[in-house]
Order: sequence, then C-alpha cells, then structure tokens
Amino acid sequence: MSDPLLSLRGVTKDFGGGAFGLIDVDLDIAEGEFVSLLGPSGCGKTTTLRVVAGFERPTSGRVLLNGAEIGHLPPNRRPVNTVFQDYAVFPHMNVAENVAFGLSVRGTPRAETARRVADALELVGLADKAKRPVSALSGGQRQRVALARALVCAPKLLLLDEPLSALDASLREQMQVELKSLQARLGTTFVMVTHDQTEALSISDRIVVMQGGRIEQIAAPAELYDRPATRFVAGFIGTMNLLPAQAAGVGAVRLCGQTLPVPEARGLPPGAPVTLGLRPEDLELAPAGLGFRVSTTVFHGRSLRVIGRLEGAGEVILDVPRTRAETIPAPGSLAALALRPGATPLVFP
Ligand code: ATP
Repeated sequence: MSDPLLSLRGVTKDFGGGAFGLIDVDLDIAEGEFVSLLGPSGCGKTTTLRVVAGFERPTSGRVLLNGAEIGHLPPNRRPVNTVFQDYAVFPHMNVAENVAFGLSVRGTPRAETARRVADALELVGLADKAKRPVSALSGGQRQRVALARALVCAPKLLLLDEPLSALDASLREQMQVELKSLQARLGTTFVMVTHDQTEALSISDRIVVMQGGRIEQIAAPAELYDRPATRFVAGFIGTMNLLPAQAAGVGAVRLCGQTLPVPEARGLPPGAPVTLGLRPEDLELAPAGLGFRVSTTVFHGRSLRVIGRLEGAGEVILDVPRTRAETIPAPGSLAALALRPGATPLVFP
C-alpha cells in the first residue's frame, strides 16, 4: 500500500494485571477505505478504535496519520471523529443544533456553520428534520444525526463503534446500505467496529479479523471467505466444517478411512494431523462415500441445510439445493457424502 492514511506500528496496550487490550498490532489503512474490525468479544476491537481516537494511550508502539505521529495528541486535536453505538445525541437540542455542536465548539463562524450543517443533513437524508427535537426521531434517524454530527467536522478518518447495533434487523440492513453508499460518495476513510460478520462482509472493502489482542488476518471479504489464513478465521467467517484428518501424500487427505483429493495438502508429511475445512456447499449427498447419519434438515433460503454426523469426525453441515430436497434421507437414516465437483477444501495444520 502506498502511503497509508493511518498506520499502527507495533501497538501494545497493557491494562495491567495481565489484561492486554492489544499485542504488537501492525495495521495500515489507505485513504478512502471502508475497513471493519471484526472478532469475538474482548478481542481488542474497541481498544484499537480508542487508541486511534486518542481516548487510550498505547503502552508501546506508534500511531501515525499521513506518516506523522499522533499518539501524543488529545482526541480533539486529531482529525478524527467517532460515532458511538448509543448515538450519544443531545436530547435537549434539535437536529440542527446537535449537528452544529462540534463546529460551535471549534468557533466556526455562524454562516459557515449553517451551510455545513445543511450539507451534512442533506447527506444523511434529514434535511427536512432540521428543526425537529431529536427526542421525536426514530432510532435510525438518531443514528443519522450522530453520523451528520461527526461528518460535519470533515474528519480525515471516521471511526464507528458498533454504530448500527442498537437498531432492529431490517432497519440495520437498510442503514448498512446507506452507510456504504454515504462512505463511497464522500470518499472519507471509515473504520468500523462490529461483531456482526454479515455486516462486515457486506459493507467493508477490507476486514481486520482479531483474536486475543492480535490481528489474525486482514483481507477483502471474498478473500477472507475463500482463503481464510488461519483455522480461527475459517471457523469464524461463514459456516465451515472443521474436521480432524491426516495428510496422505501428494495432495490428498485421509478422512474417516477415505482418501480425498485436496491440492492444498501438497507438501505435508504423510500422516501429519490436519484440520480439513469444508464449506456446506462443498459437500453433496452421493451413492457412496463418507458414512453420514442425518440428524435434521432446516430451511435455508435457496437451499436446505442438512445437519448430521460423519462417523469418526463429528458434526457436519451441508447445503442441498431445494430442487433436490427429495434426495435427503429422513432424520436418523444413514447416507453417504462426497466432495462436490469443483469444491475447494482447505487444510490447516
Ligand atoms: P467487545 O466486542 O466485547 O466490545 P472488544 O473486541 O471491543 O470487545 P476490547 O474492549 O478492546 O474488546 O477489550 C480487549 C481486552 O482488553 C479485553 O480482554 C478487555 O477485558 C480488556 N480491557 C479493555 N478495556 C480495559 C480496561 N479499561 N481495563 C482493563 N482491561 C480492559
């Protein structure tokens, strides 16, 4: 990446008493990117955001914006704004006053404030609500006020801490689309914390997957899904069957007494224990193959999701097109599974 907008270099945050928020984190984010920080609770997402915003000082390491150190600057001296989960709008002010707040604190002249507030409200689709008390707005509208309030300051970097998590499912989906198109129109760099992988996959240019204060993988959504770098990412993104197997020589793996062609296993010593990663769409019911006992079938949109047990390897999930529903054996029956042609199994040491 040429000249990133934001860089973290070897950032560690030690909260004391053995609690580490971040451990030696390196991260580069380019201007204009929409990047999500994703991972399980306690993995360090919020700490990363707080370190960038200036609410938290790293124990060691550097935070750079356009190549210049900003680690020593207080939050209000950084060209960075944050949108929080709970909108944090001021209930006693109307919409326009809420949005103008950041500008008035900075002593922006009145006429300029009025123009910029109007532009920001236009941007988030609230131009007709300027004089409304925020208490009269819906959750989604309040979150738009919070967005406008952050954007009106024209930050170089907008940080969003679970901005949509307080919204119900359908509004949340609608706001995801709005957020993505807003970011694309503005070209402002967005860094968003979320624990919702569907949200991260659908709106990010790149996703940073974190675990235990460290970065597991940084990649575009499709790459993260198709080529997870670690077993953790494979298990965290989408549904993945992770099955105990052994390497079996040139590009093959032994699973439940059968040998499967797995090009990824090339180079592994025969007999080495591995974890085989198979997506539900990589498997199919077959006349012969791996012994599989069906437990249950659930509706899954265009396909039916069949859950069962592979003898000797544990639970397995596969997706069967609904047009082939009649081929699914009844719960409790024994069936056989094979790799679907074109499947791309993954192997983790
Ligand atoms: P969540 O999704 O639950 O918000 P997160 O990924 O945002 O989690 P962080 O809040 O960044 O995680 O926390 C990372 C680690 O640092 C956790 O183990 C947490 O307990 C610890 N931590 C965070 N803030 C503090 C603090 N002020 N004092 C002590 N430990 C802290």
